[in-house]
Amino acid sequence: MKTRAALFRGAGRPLELQEIELDEPREDEVLVRMSAVGICGTDLHSIRGEWERPTPMVLGHEGAGVVEEVGSAVTRVRPGDRVVLSWAPSCGECVDCRRGRPAACVPLHRAMAGGTLIEGHTGMSLNGETVYRGTATGALAEQIIVPERVALPLRDDVPVEDAALLGCAALTGVGAVLFAARVESGATVFVVGAGGVGQFVLQGARLAGAGVSVSVDPSAPRRERAVQLGAAAAVSPEEVKEAMGELLPDGADYAFDAVGEPETTKLAMRWTKNGGTCVVVGLPSGTTRLQIDPAEFYRREKHLTGTIYGSEDPAVSLPILLGHVREGRLDLGEMLGPVFPLERVNDAIEASLGGSGGRVVVRP
Ligand SMILES: [Zn+2]
Ligand SMILES: [Zn+2]
Repeated sequence: MKTRAALFRGAGRPLELQEIELDEPREDEVLVRMSAVGICGTDLHSIRGEWERPTPMVLGHEGAGVVEEVGSAVTRVRPGDRVVLSWAPSCGECVDCRRGRPAACVPLHRAMAGGTLIEGHTGMSLNGETVYRGTATGALAEQIIVPERVALPLRDDVPVEDAALLGCAALTGVGAVLFAARVESGATVFVVGAGGVGQFVLQGARLAGAGVSVSVDPSAPRRERAVQLGAAAAVSPEEVKEAMGELLPDGADYAFDAVGEPETTKLAMRWTKNGGTCVVVGLPSGTTRLQIDPAEFYRREKHLTGTIYGSEDPAVSLPILLGHVREGRLDLGEMLGPVFPLERVNDAIEASLGGSGGRVVVRP
């Protein structure tokens, strides 16, 4: 069968809309018609050429859609079911899966680097040439075939654009606070980066009942959002010293780096209180290395750690997040930025690269 997809062919080149060939779903796979796909920082790493990935590749891994067809062995979803895609269908057997961290799964990360599904195939081609998958997913398409355990059931009353955000930014950002750092009520929080993930870190802090939180971002629209989401202050990188001097002169109990570059991690470490915890949430570009003064550890006893996909199995964390959505404690709609049809996928990428205040979404 054929479907239309946005193909990435290399850094600096616009995505190309092409009819690609999809293999029939295997017995444990499902065919999903995509309703909405968010543009994530991970997609932008590929687009900027910061990561080596095979091409042509369909990017996009933060999505929601409707199941159209299921393989013979599929039991958890049926045609017509609304689903959120998880990009972490773990192997269940490696050291990381066994410690309850499916998003850190060793074969999964091998598949992501190789542009395939975890089983090693992509199931997509163009004129006989393999088409690869971004983040073991490849959702910027009208239809996508994925393993059953990627398609997590969604309640009917969550709008599709909102649901897409759950698939990566929300699980990552909220999970960093609730499941990785386990921020206590009243603890203070410092967040570097107020893009999609940073905004969900702020919402996570609100959910955890955190005290004062301070957000840093060079983009004015994103700073505005950060204040709406409860940050006591949202400042540019140049203003950090003054703002923290006033609000949290000893630093924050928890600092989150939602960007993941060495300079942002250093900034987060700098404003982690002595004995506090700094969590790297964002993904750096491929070749960067972090240099940190060892006194941060031996004298100031700070903790530096990281998290991937919210440090929880998405099959466990998604229902928890949906519960917060239902109770009105976690807002998805206010996180949305502009929405584009698939034909305008390159405008969507531009908007995201340009620092859009809200998450940019494509409606295939
Ligand atoms: Zn993502
Ligand atoms: Zn594994």
